[in-house]
Amino acid sequence: MNFALDDQQRLLISTVRSFIKTELAPFEDEIEKTGILRPQLAQSVHAKAKALGLYAMNIPEKFGGGGLSALDQMLVEEQFGYTTDILIRRAFGNVYEMLLECRETQIGRWLLPAVTGDRTASIAITEPGAGSDAAGIKTRAIRDGTGWRLTGTKHFISDGEFSDFFLVTAVTDPALGSKGISMFLVDKGLIGFSIGRDQPMMGVRGTSHVELVFDDVPLEAVALLGGEGMGLKLALSTLGRVRLAQVGARAVGKATHVLKQTVAYANERKQFGQSLGQFQMVQQMLADSVIEINCARLLLHRAAFELDQGRDGRDHIAMVKVNAAETLGRVVDRAVQIFGGMGFCKDLPIERYYRDARIYRIFDGASEIHRHTIARNTLKTGDALFDIEA
Ligand SMILES: Cc1cc2nc3c(=O)[nH]c(=O)nc-3n(C[C@H](O)[C@H](O)[C@H](O)COP(=O)(O)OP(=O)(O)OC[C@H]3O[C@@H](n4cnc5c(N)ncnc54)[C@H](O)[C@@H]3O)c2cc1C
Repeated sequence: MNFALDDQQRLLISTVRSFIKTELAPFEDEIEKTGILRPQLAQSVHAKAKALGLYAMNIPEKFGGGGLSALDQMLVEEQFGYTTDILIRRAFGNVYEMLLECRETQIGRWLLPAVTGDRTASIAITEPGAGSDAAGIKTRAIRDGTGWRLTGTKHFISDGEFSDFFLVTAVTDPALGSKGISMFLVDKGLIGFSIGRDQPMMGVRGTSHVELVFDDVPLEAVALLGGEGMGLKLALSTLGRVRLAQVGARAVGKATHVLKQTVAYANERKQFGQSLGQFQMVQQMLADSVIEINCARLLLHRAAFELDQGRDGRDHIAMVKVNAAETLGRVVDRAVQIFGGMGFCKDLPIERYYRDARIYRIFDGASEIHRHTIARNTLKTGDALFDIEA
């Protein structure tokens, strides 16, 4: 067992960290105030990151990506937690591994332009009536000649205003339940496809979260990704790594970033003639945050190890999803407490971190859903998920 980072990993981390610090972080306040990332700025950060080879690092090199292992990807994604979602999307991309299921003409039309950043994609599974219960969707795709016609509504679709195409789940055979759901590649601009309102959120300013309305949208046969009835299977098998990266690793990074600022403040701020850090109750909060971040990171790396061994790592990813998201919540809550009134005041970014952290326990499967998976599989398999010998 070796916990040391090698020289290449250190270089990767420091390159991404310094890019974020110099090229992205200076724009966070502007995005928070205006609610948007200016298109010109988006283009500029994208061009700079791409020139350094930092775009689509998760995608294999044979498709033009960075070809990072799962572990190296998590090291990078942890750094992504240091800044705002929208800046990460534009600079480094949000290229879903699900696109690796593209075959033949799908590769040139959807996968490759996504890897170069010429086209961006969002994933559209959630509907007003079906969130945690992803198999309960109502969006329907009906065969029409060789193609399909798509009707239904999705909501909360991240970055949907900007995206050029969408990975959309739809029922193709209602009689088959979850095995009757398929995945479609749906281009923006198709007849009958409209982007609904941008749904205002508590945090994550700058990223749109929109409704998608499909009104009898004609889809070509080539729009079907991964075979009929494979939609949820595809989502299950490819979204784990996304979850580990975008929730697990970013939550660890955000918690680390917040704790660094909290420690500095605890050293600097004096009350009763001494620094806050000298008070034992403040020390307890700091110590708990240090312990919890380290635990979350270890669990994250263990899950990444499972993926790098070619195993599906589903249970480990569920554990990370719950643990990292809840660790972030506690770390940022303690930060607000230690910063006192300044933690609540918009003059500092702490209150923003607090708001931005809250969604981590909800999206990509709420904590309850992942706990349910962990408990169900534990009851089924006995000690396999927690005994070192198993
Ligand atoms: C900012 C944001 C971005 C998002 N981005 C996307 C996106 O890009 N694409 C996309 O498809 N979706 C996206 N979502 C949707 C997100 O994944 C869902 O909100 C999430 O899966 C929860 O679904 P829900 O909101 O419908 O809550 P519900 O499913 O209604 O759940 C509400 C509560 O009930 C609990 N609950 C539900 N079922 C059970 C159960 N069986 N046992 C115990 N408790 C249960 C849940 O844990 C939760 O606490 C986004 C949401 C937000 C807020």
